[in-house]
Amino acid sequence: MATWEDVVAYAKGAAQTVGKKTDEWVELGKMKLKLSELHRDIAEAHEGLGRLVYDSRKSGEAVDDMIDACIEHLDDLNGEMERLEEKIMFTKNAVRCDKCGTPNANTAQFCNQCGEKLG
Ligand SMILES: [Zn+2]
Repeated sequence: MATWEDVVAYAKGAAQTVGKKTDEWVELGKMKLKLSELHRDIAEAHEGLGRLVYDSRKSGEAVDDMIDACIEHLDDLNGEMERLEEKIMFTKNAVRCDKCGTPNANTAQFCNQCGEKLG
């Protein structure tokens, strides 16, 4: 019977056999998918906020708490989107170390993981 350690070792082995280039593209694809989901969530949150304000004006019901919660949610989503966009830009422009495969900023002269000279 396979132990938990076997499973972990297998998963690590499987990850290592995948080429670095493939890895990078899978990662980028996932991030782009997540980004498009975030764009949709943000659009929906804006729509919800608009509807909330509209309904509140129509009915005269006070919904300040709900509006605050909506804005907080939007701030979270926007922050997440900014971080993800930065990460995508970094991954796109990253220079991979020949020695260890670590992505480094394209302005870096040496690998921040192993110190190998880049470029
Ligand atoms: Zn390196």
